[in-house]
Amino acid sequence: MSRYTGPVCRLCRRETAASKTGEKIKLFLKGDRCLSRKCAVERRGTAPGQKTAGKSRSKVSEFGRQLREKQKMRRYYGVHETQFKNYFREAARVPGQTGRTFLQLLERRLDNIVYRLNLAASRAQARQLVTHRHFRVNGRVVNVPSHIVKPGDVLSIGDRSLKSPVFESNLEVARNRRPPDWLEWNEQDRSAKVLQLPAREHIDTPVDEQLIVEYYSR
Ligand code: SF4
Repeated sequence: MSRYTGPVCRLCRRETAASKTGEKIKLFLKGDRCLSRKCAVERRGTAPGQKTAGKSRSKVSEFGRQLREKQKMRRYYGVHETQFKNYFREAARVPGQTGRTFLQLLERRLDNIVYRLNLAASRAQARQLVTHRHFRVNGRVVNVPSHIVKPGDVLSIGDRSLKSPVFESNLEVARNRRPPDWLEWNEQDRSAKVLQLPAREHIDTPVDEQLIVEYYSR
């Protein structure tokens, strides 16, 4: 299945319009714009093609809710359907809470770690930086965005990459923003350590993972 290449703000507007609580759903797909007043969800929370806020479409079934939640989470992490399903299968094999393990797997992707460390403005940029061989895990270059990190792993940036303009500005952001508690950023040698597996409270992804478990368990 191909990657969605349309305007990404439409995806946030679609999720916001589908939200039962009226909550604004931001998928943070456009870097700093998402934090500014230019964010499309802040300006208008209507569904794409819908002119007035508050117009609801037909009643959403339980399956519809599960499907929306699954799509939302998949788009949030920018993962293809097949790969997303494979993560779920892997999580289901692990004893314990499948939803939490599923979320942990997605959080532990290398592109997500780069984004969480504020070394990229968005997950899309993080994916690109990883494929361009800017990062090392435990001293070895890794150019696979889906690489899963584990506690104890150390992420570093290549010496030549540190001199590039994109890293100059991204490192400035990383210096001023705190990463989640399960990651430790070392400003001196521009590296990061994975301290532990992310707990649910460390993950601010606005999804109800139980609905996704129910979707795949049908
Ligand atoms: Fe979503 Fe970011 Fe666009 Fe806002 S600016 S609608 S959060 S992608």
